Amino acid sequence: MEKHHHHHHLISESITGDLKKVYIGAIILNALFVAFEAWMGFRSDSMSLVSDAGHKLVDVFSLGLTLLAFILASSRPGKKFTFGYRKLTVLISLLNAVFVVVVAVSIIYESIQRMMDPASLSPDADAISITAGVGIVVNFLSVVLLSYKRRHDVNTRGAFLHMLTDCLLSIGVVIAGFIIKWTGFVLLDPIMSICIAGFILASIMSVLVESFKLSIDAVPAGIDAEKISKEISGIPGVNEVSGFHIWPISTTEAALTAKLSVDDSFNRSEILSRAKDIIKSNGINDSTLEIQ
Ligand SMILES: [Zn+2]
Repeated sequence: MEKHHHHHHLISESITGDLKKVYIGAIILNALFVAFEAWMGFRSDSMSLVSDAGHKLVDVFSLGLTLLAFILASSRPGKKFTFGYRKLTVLISLLNAVFVVVVAVSIIYESIQRMMDPASLSPDADAISITAGVGIVVNFLSVVLLSYKRRHDVNTRGAFLHMLTDCLLSIGVVIAGFIIKWTGFVLLDPIMSICIAGFILASIMSVLVESFKLSIDAVPAGIDAEKISKEISGIPGVNEVSGFHIWPISTTEAALTAKLSVDDSFNRSEILSRAKDIIKSNGINDSTLEIQ
């Protein structure tokens, strides 16, 4: 049970080890900044800082989720958990997305409440600019960290681009702080806050929808079930494909089962290996086929 499968697996394990360190570094850095920014936000009465702290908290969660997926991907099957714990990534992704929607909606609600009573607004403009300036540094350091290993992994490339976008967002908040200081236009603070919360909502919606679908065993995005079924039906000697199922094992892996009705005059093992090739080339590594 404890043996390693192929030697390419061993090579990718050392890359995964380095990736884990990159993620742990990025998580610690961003988590410290979330605490700092939330504290500064409440202290300086700035909704835009609180909103961005909420946004960075979401980023810490998704970095943590990616790290967890790396760890669980190598989890070995057990007697009760025959897939290992890989599907936990789907459940955590769904819970995370629901939590994010609640946070973003309550930030928008609070910001609108404050906009309706502008006299109560007294954000500390200097604190906004200084804190967001620290944010630029933190986001830039995250970009440097993630760029180190991004070539090896699609999730890491996504996180790298996201942190780059966040640098721009922090620059925007620094500028908003200056505008508030120079013009006294305090409404800009809740306006920025709503923009940031809107940015969070827009980016989490696809995660919410996809993780909900995965949790009820929908075919994962990027896999075309109809195409695979048609290609298998097209193998000479296959009369019918039935009991066709594709379901997610984790946020990145899927499994397939199918029954093939086969003409007696054809070579069964040849049909089986052709079908397995089709399934593999469509991005599914775990399949079970029955020939009738
Ligand atoms: Zn972000």
